[in-house]
Amino acid sequence: MPPLLVIGGGLAGCEAAWHLAERGHDVLLTEMRPGHGTPAHRTGDLAELVCTNSFKSEDPGNAHGLLKAEMRDLGSLLLQAADATKVAAGSALAVDRVAFARAVTSRIESHPRIRLERRELTALPPAPAVIATGPLTSPALAAEMTALLGARGLAFYDAIAPIVSRDSIDLEVAYFATRWGTGAGDEDYLNCPLDREQYHAFVAALGAADAYPGHEWEQIPYFEGCLPIEVMAERGPDTLRFGPMRPIGLRNPRTGKRPFAVVQLRREDAGGQMWNLVGFQTRLRTAEQRRVFSMIPGLEHAEFLRTGSIHRNTYLDFPATLLPYGAAPARPDLIFAGQLTGVEGYMESAASGILAGINLHRLMLGKQPALPPTTTMLGGLLRYLRGAEPGRFQPMNANFGLLDPLLGIARKDERRARVLDRARADFRQWLAEHSLVAPTWPEAEP
Ligand SMILES: Cc1cc2nc3c(=O)[nH]c(=O)nc-3n(C[C@H](O)[C@H](O)[C@H](O)COP(=O)(O)OP(=O)(O)OC[C@H]3O[C@@H](n4cnc5c(N)ncnc54)[C@H](O)[C@@H]3O)c2cc1C
Repeated sequence: MPPLLVIGGGLAGCEAAWHLAERGHDVLLTEMRPGHGTPAHRTGDLAELVCTNSFKSEDPGNAHGLLKAEMRDLGSLLLQAADATKVAAGSALAVDRVAFARAVTSRIESHPRIRLERRELTALPPAPAVIATGPLTSPALAAEMTALLGARGLAFYDAIAPIVSRDSIDLEVAYFATRWGTGAGDEDYLNCPLDREQYHAFVAALGAADAYPGHEWEQIPYFEGCLPIEVMAERGPDTLRFGPMRPIGLRNPRTGKRPFAVVQLRREDAGGQMWNLVGFQTRLRTAEQRRVFSMIPGLEHAEFLRTGSIHRNTYLDFPATLLPYGAAPARPDLIFAGQLTGVEGYMESAASGILAGINLHRLMLGKQPALPPTTTMLGGLLRYLRGAEPGRFQPMNANFGLLDPLLGIARKDERRARVLDRARADFRQWLAEHSLVAPTWPEAEP
């Protein structure tokens, strides 16, 4: 039987190749570097980290810690390499990036069932494959994806607005209303009212805040309807009041008056746990977003489940174009994985690669793909990808708003603890039901 193909030797592709090989398949992994580079990668190593060397928190009470726990249950190759190359970083898992990428490369190169080829794939393969070519997929292959999935199926830039948890919004201040208050869908929007002073202080803070300058190669073509909020603020004191913060038709039921300006939050999930700051796509640095957006009345104690960003990022409109397990409907044997599918972050991408490997293996056995329950971090993330609004889809990172809500427990810390316990129990049960035993690791450290 010919080997199964994995395209892209980044975080997702290495996991996918490894998990297929550990399940007995011969795998051909193709990586275009070093012969054909990307603007962000610097080496020919597999699983190169293009920015920070941190994989975020290991704390099991944190969303990123929970995702890692699930990846460890699945036998993540990358986390094993991370453990072997980690550097001190408090409760975060950070690695020596060079040692980490070399450890992953050496594991892949020495696997008896994986063959690594250094070449750019310019066409989608006719045979079963995992495609994990990442946010900087080469243009030739991206064109092939567009041909398969349609011109609207693939985006080249993201424009991400922050999301806050409903628990953390002050509902004594924010109020439900749709513009012009028809009554229909009123529960879909929350509004944070600002008076004149609050508005001008907010605009001044936005203008003075520190924004990420971006890379020269990104050349983000800003569209008028999608400018960073801080760029709009710079255009004049009233620009936001006539733009995303316009108060027209949003009378505050508590005062009976129209506020001077309004920040609208749109419900992001059916459970109403995640609320998106409408029109607030931004390049402000993460800490600055927390500081400045916490000036908005009602968001003083906001918990940011996702912070905003605008990147050069090739990704598919998952809800519009892919089957629930990430394959194209016209090619159910081609599973997309990693950042390309609209997950955001190193570990999210790696976890998606593990699942793609497992599911291609299952397809080869004639079995249905397996998706973790939506009470778990990986299951919640996948549910978001397939259930988000097509055409408006933006990448998502791990956070607790993705998991099924747990009703009837008033105290937030108790609720969080129960959600965590449920996630761990349900994930293990899912593993058992699908006989998903983690591969056993060799004794030697990489
Ligand atoms: C500039 C930048 C900074 C980032 N910073 C962070 C950060 O700080 N933290 C974070 O969590 N995430 C960050 N990300 C997101 C990060 O890229 C992803 O989290 C992660 O690397 C995605 O994993 P992946 O496997 O999907 O893609 P990648 O790791 O990019 O792997 C894709 C691989 O496919 C190869 N490839 C592409 N096209 C082809 C082809 N046609 N044929 C063969 N091979 C091909 C590429 O060379 C690459 O090795 C950043 C992304 C970018 C672009």
